[in-house]
Amino acid sequence: MVFIILIIISFIFIAIAVSKEMSKNEHKEEDENLMDDFYPITENNTAEIDRLPYQIYYKEKSQKEDFYKDADFVNKNCESLDDFIINDDINAFDLRKLADLNGIGLQISKAWYPLTIKLIQKLHDNGWDKRVYCIKSKYASLEFYASNEDHLREIIRDYGYRSQTVCETCGENGEMRSYSGWDYIDCRKHYLEKRGKITIDSEGFCYNDFYYYWNTITDRSFEDLDFNGKYRILIIEFKKDTAENEDLIYGKLYISKNAIGFGNFLSYLSKNFFRLANSYVTKFENVEFCEICGYKAVYLDECECCENYTREGYLKTWRNEENSEEKKFQYIKDRQISWIKDEGEIYETKQKNYIKNPDYKVLFNEDELNKWDLN
Ligand SMILES: [Zn+2]
Ligand SMILES: [Zn+2]
Repeated sequence: MVFIILIIISFIFIAIAVSKEMSKNEHKEEDENLMDDFYPITENNTAEIDRLPYQIYYKEKSQKEDFYKDADFVNKNCESLDDFIINDDINAFDLRKLADLNGIGLQISKAWYPLTIKLIQKLHDNGWDKRVYCIKSKYASLEFYASNEDHLREIIRDYGYRSQTVCETCGENGEMRSYSGWDYIDCRKHYLEKRGKITIDSEGFCYNDFYYYWNTITDRSFEDLDFNGKYRILIIEFKKDTAENEDLIYGKLYISKNAIGFGNFLSYLSKNFFRLANSYVTKFENVEFCEICGYKAVYLDECECCENYTREGYLKTWRNEENSEEKKFQYIKDRQISWIKDEGEIYETKQKNYIKNPDYKVLFNEDELNKWDLN
């Protein structure tokens, strides 16, 4: 009898412990989602969304109002879409409120708030009814689903194009980047932070601040072949329990071809690990100077440093293109200018990842650089 009671009691304890753990995980996940969704607010506002309690936002409406309590914005007391004011003073809280009143979320990063605010001001000036069904970043572009009227659609399309040059992290000038099949807009600085970096020595290699010993590698393979015959991902497997960190997924490390030092890493593998080499890895044995950025980082017709194709690589990709010395000159020159404009050289030089060609030739002049700005 006592035994049965003991069993029942222990079941109750286990049930309580499990349910506590589950609700803890649920909260954790919810908080993280909210964090992703929250960003500080544009300049002229004393309140920061950051400082408001994350937990309350998606709860009851009355609690939602607490969320706006310390904020200063035009539509603070607005209750319906018809009364919503759009003027030069609206800020990110107004944008959030507009989304709220339309019953949608704001699925863009804070860096795109100013652009989106400008868009709604422009739409408003052109007779928009303030209805919007979706505001999000999709395929590295601002998606704003609203009116079907031609002249408004034109404005929305224009801001979609504009968003494609605005870094989603900081709002500075950016361009489209791809990372493991995911497209987004980043300036060079933020892109470099995400690219990852591999360095090697005789004992092993370092990838994103974790060190791995050569003698713990058991296998490697490639994944995700692109239309140029290049693999986007290298997967490295390790002996059980030899390398443990959160970057590993079931003992495997996934390295993107965009990582700084990727070509050098493969080149090292091909020369030092015959056991691991295959025909693909041996293609990375040779490295050349890039005519665009001037750094020694060209593997397989593509520069790892500036991420441009060589002229030859470009022609292979777009097979119909007519080739001539003149066209090649123009190709290299255009990309040199765009590389300089992207401040690429400045960041790369700071990092000293690659060796610079002492015979590097700049093909453009000051005048052409200035004209590029006007385009
Ligand atoms: Zn940025
Ligand atoms: Zn280059």
